[in-house]
Amino acid sequence: MTFRSYMDLALAQARAAADRDEVPVGAVIVGPDGVLAQAGNRTRELNDPTAHAEVLAIRAACAALGQERLTGCDLYVTLEPCPMCAAAISSARLARLYYGASDPKSGGVAQGPRVFSHPQCHHAPQVYDGIAAQQSEDLLRRFFASKR
Ligand SMILES: [Zn+2]
Repeated sequence: MTFRSYMDLALAQARAAADRDEVPVGAVIVGPDGVLAQAGNRTRELNDPTAHAEVLAIRAACAALGQERLTGCDLYVTLEPCPMCAAAISSARLARLYYGASDPKSGGVAQGPRVFSHPQCHHAPQVYDGIAAQQSEDLLRRFFASKR
């Protein structure tokens, strides 16, 4: 079996988020039969601080499958998940996490609380970082530069 990255779709969601004036982060969830959900940040649009791309994608994928867990599914996200999203990824029992840019400011996987290596973490996905990291970073940098 050859590895196929879905990060291009996540990047497209991140770009769409920037076009909506949201922080450009995009996420895709892939199940055994293909793409289950795609989402970008919508915190401003929904007036919801929890409307991160990962959370929206997890909700949509669970709704599509009619279940509360995503066992055996993979999540692609352009930025290192924050602690809230990492906890949601753990609760969803996602098998693998692929992320792009690291997030020294708000990340919760490789830095900060390192949610998946915490003793209270009941499920940790396999983590692959640095996937299309440069493209993800460039999107974020351009977005924040335009806000100054
Ligand atoms: Zn998050």
